[in-house]
Amino acid sequence: MSLSPDQQAEIDELRSSPRETLRATSPGMEQHLYKAIPVLDHGFVRVIDYMGDDSAICQAARVSYGRGTKSVQNDEGLIRYLMRHWHSTPFEMCEVKLHVKLPVFVARQWIRHRTANVNEYSARYSILDREFYIPEPEALAAQSVVNNQGRGEALTDEEADRVLRYLRDDAMRAYDHYEEMIGQEGQQGLARELARMNLPANIYTQWYWKVDLHNLLHFLRLRADAHAQYEIRVYADAICDVVADWVPFAYKAFADYRMGGATLSSSALDCVRRMLKGEDVNQENSGMSKGEWREFMGVLQNDGN
Ligand SMILES: Cc1cc2nc3c(=O)[nH]c(=O)nc-3n(C[C@H](O)[C@H](O)[C@H](O)COP(=O)(O)OP(=O)(O)OC[C@H]3O[C@@H](n4cnc5c(N)ncnc54)[C@H](O)[C@@H]3O)c2cc1C
Repeated sequence: MSLSPDQQAEIDELRSSPRETLRATSPGMEQHLYKAIPVLDHGFVRVIDYMGDDSAICQAARVSYGRGTKSVQNDEGLIRYLMRHWHSTPFEMCEVKLHVKLPVFVARQWIRHRTANVNEYSARYSILDREFYIPEPEALAAQSVVNNQGRGEALTDEEADRVLRYLRDDAMRAYDHYEEMIGQEGQQGLARELARMNLPANIYTQWYWKVDLHNLLHFLRLRADAHAQYEIRVYADAICDVVADWVPFAYKAFADYRMGGATLSSSALDCVRRMLKGEDVNQENSGMSKGEWREFMGVLQNDGN
C-alpha cells in the first residue's frame, strides 16, 4: 500500500489539529482516526469519523438522560445481554465512516451489504490510477474440489508464475489502452466514462462507507468468516481490529456470541442431547443430510466450519 507524500501530509495535518468536543469519544478509536491501515498490495481502510462508544450503547438501551453508565461492569453485562438476545437497536446508535481503497471485484461483494451509505470515486469524472491487485503467490490456489465457491490446493510455483505473468501483462495492456483511448495531445479522446470499460476487475477503486455498528457487525460476521473470500476477509479482519479498539465490550460480546458461537437446528440440538445421554449418533440416524452432518461435526470439532 502506498500513500503519496501529499496524502500522508494531509493525514498528519488532520491528526495534529485536535478539536474540543462534548460528545462521547473512544480513546481506542481516537488512535485510529485518519490513519490508513494497509490491506492487500495497494488497498487500505481509514477511519474518517465515528459516533458513540460502549457507553452510548448502554445509554440508548436504558433511554437514559445522562451517560447511561451505572458501572463499567454493569455496562459490559448489559452489552452481553443485548447481544445474546438479539436486541440490536442500541448497537445502531454507534456509527463509523470509513475510507476504503479496494479492488473492484472485492467492491462488488462489499456493495451487497445494502444497509450502509456509500460514495464511490467517480471514474466518469476522474482518471483511475494504474493500480491493480496482484495476489501474493501463496494466495494463488486451484478451484476447491469440496467447495464450489472457494479455493483449494496452492498452485505449483510454475503455475503461479504463469498466472502472475498473465495478471500483470493483462492489467498493464488494458491500462495502456485506457490511457490511449482517453486521448493524447491533438486527439479527440474517448470520454472517461466509456474508456474505463476495458479495465479488469482487479483495478482499485475507493469509497467512503458509513454504517451503524449493528450492520457493521453483520458485515463482519459474514466477511471475517473463514468461508469468506480471502480478499474481502483481510479487509474485514482489519476492521475487526478497529472495532475491538472502538467499542471493546461490544466487540468482545460479538466475538463470543457471533464469531465464536454457532446456531444449531432443532435436529442438531436433538443429536447433542442424544450424545449427552451416551447414544451412538451418526449421520444415518441423525435425521440430517450429509452436508448438514459435516457442518455439525465441524462445529462440534471446532474446525472452522
Ligand atoms: C459466503 C457468501 C457467499 C455469497 N454468495 C453469493 C452469490 O453466490 N450470489 C449472490 O448474489 N450473493 C451472494 N452473497 C451475498 C449475500 O447473499 C448477501 O447479499 C450479502 O451477504 C449481504 O447480506 P445482507 O443482505 O444480510 O446485508 P444487508 O444488505 O446489509 O442487509 C442487512 C439485513 O437487512 C435486511 N434487508 C436489507 N435490505 C433488505 C431488503 N431489500 N429486503 C428485505 N430485507 C432487507 C435483511 O434482514 C438483511 O439481512 C454471498 C455472501 C456470502 C457471505
